[in-house]
Amino acid sequence: MHIPFVDLKAQYETLKDDVAEAILGVLDSAQFVGGEALASFERDFAAYCQVRYARGVANGTDGLHLALRALGIGHGDEVITTAHTFIATAAAIVATGARPVFVDIDPDTYTIDPEMIERAVTDRTRAIIAVHLFGQPADMGPIKDIARRRGLYVLEDAAQAHGAEYQGVRTGALGDVACFSFYPAKNLGAYGDGGAVTTNNAAIAQRIERLRDHGRTTHYSHAEIGFNSRLDALQAAVLQVKLRRLDEWNTNRRRAAEWYATELAQSGIETPFVREGSTHVYHLYVITTNDRDAMRTKLDEAGVATGIHYPLPLHLQPALEHLGYRQGDLPCCEAMAARSLSLPMFPELTRDQVRRVAAIARAAAEQDGHKNLQRKSTYSSAALQADVGKEW
Ligand SMILES: *Cc1c(COP(=O)(O)O)cnc(C)c1O
Repeated sequence: MHIPFVDLKAQYETLKDDVAEAILGVLDSAQFVGGEALASFERDFAAYCQVRYARGVANGTDGLHLALRALGIGHGDEVITTAHTFIATAAAIVATGARPVFVDIDPDTYTIDPEMIERAVTDRTRAIIAVHLFGQPADMGPIKDIARRRGLYVLEDAAQAHGAEYQGVRTGALGDVACFSFYPAKNLGAYGDGGAVTTNNAAIAQRIERLRDHGRTTHYSHAEIGFNSRLDALQAAVLQVKLRRLDEWNTNRRRAAEWYATELAQSGIETPFVREGSTHVYHLYVITTNDRDAMRTKLDEAGVATGIHYPLPLHLQPALEHLGYRQGDLPCCEAMAARSLSLPMFPELTRDQVRRVAAIARAAAEQDGHKNLQRKSTYSSAALQADVGKEW
């Protein structure tokens, strides 16, 4: 029995007729860029995120890039973010000419550590990008406090967290501006690339509209040099169909996560920790274990597909070498790179599939002699740093 990492085909089977109808509607309208399909999806997505404005863009990376530009961020500016994320978070900062400043993560939730942000603020700092990693919102309360005191913007990288909540507020509505990806495997995925920017600020929304469309004010008048970064109508129509199912899919992801947690209890494997007051939408189900590579091999041999998110933290990426970071600079990020393993996670995952994956993982952990650490909530960053020297 092969168990895939994600199963987009299983999901498509449940949507076929609605998707076909939506696509035919766009074909009949002959409006392939912009038009009613886009406007209608933007309205629905804004309502879903509990914000005034949602603007479609070509992909999540462009969303971050254009949002930073809309805030006027560029050369000479610093943007604080986490090194434990996908490269796009930093690439968007670099694309504006600004400098990414990486800080370490909270060892329990793997999201950016607000205390570390505070220490990294300089007089060049303009913004913080908080990444809602794996489907769990970053700790936005303290992050917004720092931003308010220091006069910084807060951007959400919500590419992995459509529908997650922090103290009752949806991602997309938690900062000054937020960016979503609709890459096919994301919680809300298009049938191709796509992205969106959400905000309550009318000026930011208008600037995004202009930047995504060649800096246009009218058809042949360009107020600035912009980009071609539009969400096309076919993708918008597909997304509108899929948006109606998003809550149900997120509930199913949470159900699968509960099954995993039950099956992996007492195994020495660390399962995801959810911050009080937050809802997690499990874009990824990431466990940590000492002998990660051995466990991954055993799962692979048994036909279970897994992933590593992420094997090399951004501060150690060759493309960002010029920033001057060294191994050891961000111990929690580095520990996660060595210890984390992403198990299959998608809404259609069955109880039996979870049982099977967990049984193999448990057996691997037992062979590993229960070397696993106790819950890291008992660890401070300093203690963890000491452990990095000892164990990893
Ligand atoms: C997927 C992702 C992005 C980029 O989105 P694309 O649509 O692939 O450009 C950015 N940040 C994070 C955290 C992501 O997971």
